[in-house]
Formats: sequence, C-alpha cells, structure tokens
Amino acid sequence: MIGLLGASQYEPIVENLDERTIVSTRFGDVSVLKGRISDNTVFFIRRFGWHDNKASDVVNHAAHTLAFRMLGVRRVITLNGFGGVNHDFNVGDLVVYHDYVKMLERGPTTIFFGEQRWPRANMTDPFCTEIRETLINSARYNSNRNLHTMAVNICVQGPHNETPAEFEAFRRLGADIVSTAIYPEVVYYRELEMCFAGLSWITDSGSDNDEKNWVRIGVDELSSIVREAIKNIPDVSNCRCQSTWIGNESDHYNDTTSLPSWYLDIR
Ligand SMILES: [Zn+2]
Repeated sequence: MIGLLGASQYEPIVENLDERTIVSTRFGDVSVLKGRISDNTVFFIRRFGWHDNKASDVVNHAAHTLAFRMLGVRRVITLNGFGGVNHDFNVGDLVVYHDYVKMLERGPTTIFFGEQRWPRANMTDPFCTEIRETLINSARYNSNRNLHTMAVNICVQGPHNETPAEFEAFRRLGADIVSTAIYPEVVYYRELEMCFAGLSWITDSGSDNDEKNWVRIGVDELSSIVREAIKNIPDVSNCRCQSTWIGNESDHYNDTTSLPSWYLDIR
C-alpha cells in the first residue's frame, strides 16, 4: 500500500478511485480516497484540505499522517511545487530533495505530544532513500526536465511568500529550495516508522514569487513519473524508515516500552 499526498488536481494519477471515506484519528477526521496504481493499493489525501483551501500552516498534518498509518500504509509520496533558492535551480526543474532545515514553529512537534514520555526520532535520513531512488530513476526516464537529485528544503511558516532578503539569507544558509510544507509531517512519518519522500518542481525563483506567475506541472506529466516510481518500489523495504524504534532498547528514550499504548495498538 502506498499513500499519495497532493492537491486534488493530481488525483487522476491514481486509477479506479473510490468515493471518499472518512478516517477518524485522535487528531481529527481525514477524507481519504482509495484507488490503484498497477498492483498497488493507493490512498490519496488532498494535502490542502478537501476543497484545496488550507495553507500548510493550518493543514492537520498529524491527522493525515496517522490516517495513513491506521490504514496500514507504510510508504508515502508527496507532490509539491516549491520556490527555487539556489541560483542553479530554475523554474520548471524537478527536485527530489534529501534533507531539510526547519525555519518555523508549528505543532504538535511530535506525533506523541501530550504523552507522559516520548521518544526522540533519529532524523539522519529524513526522507526515504529507497523511494527517493525510485522517484529519481522514474523522473530521468519519463521526463526531459532538468532534475536535481539532492536538495536542501528550507521549511518556512507562510502562508505569505518570502522577501528578497529572506531568499538571499536562505541561499547563504545552504538551502536549495524553500517551502511552507514538509515540516512537521516529516517528523511524524519517522516517528510512526513510515517511508516518506517527495517529488517537487520549481514554481518560482528569487524575489519574483507572485503566485499568479507560478509555473505548475500538469497531471499527465506527473502521472508517468509517479506511476512508474510506485510500480518499482520493492515489495520489501530495504531502508531504515520502518524500524525507528527497533534496536534502540539500551536508550530509555527509545525503548519501545515508552511508546504510547495507542501507537502500540496500531503498530
Ligand atoms: Zn523508507
């Protein structure tokens, strides 16, 4: 099973979509669509709300992540347009980012927030190396666009766009792209022992970031990339994403006995 996050315009990537169902999580209800890509069952969540009307700073990322996990999904791909910061990243380029810098405060800071104890997730590989590889290989084969296979995504609060001074500051910090998405959900995916990676494209660059001028990629072009990537994800994962809390029993913070009972019940 695969989870796909994106605006509603990208739903046609998934075939044979059913009517939406509601998944009730401890963080709230989530509308989920179920369909197929080749032999895989795919669940699609409209990441900006059912009506595409919620900016990232008010999206219920915790509910989205937990809904996928409760459905049995262990691998999730997100589709996003981001701003280019690195001068070598041009509008229309594809990006499979590998790391991020958090430049915002948005909660809950952990999917286990509110528990008496919560473990500390290892974020050495924040994005799944295996899914990134399949996305990169598929993008190379199915698109003529310039592709960046490594990129640091600086995550900002939004929803407004960035100033010219902020763009320059982010560039000097080592960022390649900027977005209002990805954090804190990336942490929840690691905490819930799930694979998470994204395919993005550069919508705008530098200080010329008025949304009415953003460049978007059509669903047909993305479909071929995403469908082949999902088809090629190995049946058994060879990454570290799905074993966050395994083998760390010597550290009491990472002891699985410190995981909340509600998570142990669905784990
Ligand atoms: Zn993984």
